[in-house]
Amino acid sequence: MTTPTITVAGAGIVGLWQALTLARRGFSVRLIERSVEPFAQSASALAGAMLAPYCEAEAADPLVRELGLKSLALWPQSYPGVTVKGTLVVAGTRDRAELVRFARMTDGFEKLDAEELNALEPDLEGRFAAGLHYPAEAHMAPAEAMRFLLDAIRAAGVQVAFSSTWAGRSSAEETVIDCRGLAARGELTGLRGVRGERAIVRVRDVDLIRPVRLLHPRHPLYVVPWGGRRYMIGATVIESDDDGPATVRSALELLGSAYALHPAFGEAQILDLGAGVRPAFADNVPKIVVRGRTIHVNGLYRHGFLLAPVLAELVADYLATGAVDDRVFKMEAAT
Ligand SMILES: Cc1cc2nc3c(=O)[nH]c(=O)nc-3n(C[C@H](O)[C@H](O)[C@H](O)COP(=O)(O)OP(=O)(O)OC[C@H]3O[C@@H](n4cnc5c(N)ncnc54)[C@H](O)[C@@H]3O)c2cc1C
Repeated sequence: MTTPTITVAGAGIVGLWQALTLARRGFSVRLIERSVEPFAQSASALAGAMLAPYCEAEAADPLVRELGLKSLALWPQSYPGVTVKGTLVVAGTRDRAELVRFARMTDGFEKLDAEELNALEPDLEGRFAAGLHYPAEAHMAPAEAMRFLLDAIRAAGVQVAFSSTWAGRSSAEETVIDCRGLAARGELTGLRGVRGERAIVRVRDVDLIRPVRLLHPRHPLYVVPWGGRRYMIGATVIESDDDGPATVRSALELLGSAYALHPAFGEAQILDLGAGVRPAFADNVPKIVVRGRTIHVNGLYRHGFLLAPVLAELVADYLATGAVDDRVFKMEAAT
């Protein structure tokens, strides 16, 4: 008897990990995506692609940290492009209290004095008196990672169809993993959009090794090195589902903060300025909503790259054994 095909709807970072994990577990899988070009309509393409479970614990539910640590181990097993150089957190002299607060809310760091900070990130020499280093955290360039996963999915035997809009189950027997992000809002009560604007720049005279977070009471910022002197500067967090172009106000905040981190960002070339909308539930914790043979994986908020691998494992375990983690799964009546 052949195993019935599982449909994964949506090829953002969540759908990619679902398709790959299920195919490697022996399921027959097809992945369908509405956009013509891979990733063109996904929030995932806008991400900084940091894997930062410790830093995110500053504001996230403890479950995000717990699941994120599992994903941190899963990513390098499938993608060799993960850079594990940690995260550096700094604050300007006037915002030193922010650093104390951040340290109180998080763990997994070592405290750095000015000398240690200079040794770790030489291009920031003399700019900050203290910092926090989270050595286990990682990052990647999202476009490269997603392309790699797509190739791996095809190599694992998944049928992939772009320009293919999912419009509902085709038969009562079909199992669907719905990974449509914000487009599934009509079916998931409470799913909302949280706008994030970000800039991509190229800078000649700064060579940062790891993501750097500059704390500020109103405009916290991070800078992620994507290689080739490209940096992602992000990101705003705005309660809106508007995915229109970045505003002047946000651009000023982002670029001004990068300039405060290092004046060489003043000479940076702006390669792209854009906005994506993160799908999120009220508690900003992802959910796996099971309605009979339709399984929604959604609400990954700021943590799509961080949590996609571990959620894929949870769905594969559920399909194989019926195992359910009550903190993530919501079992509902089939529709
Ligand atoms: C500025 C910014 C920075 C971020 N930085 C990070 C970070 O550093 N680390 C991190 O972990 N996360 C980060 N995130 C969050 C992360 O990007 C999101 O959590 C993630 O993109 C959500 O992925 P998704 O697959 O659920 O949704 P999406 O990426 O939006 O994918 C959904 C896909 O479904 C497709 N689709 C929709 N409807 C249909 C249909 N009917 N049929 C077929 N296909 C359909 C869409 O076209 C899309 O490709 C960031 C987000 C933003 C905006």
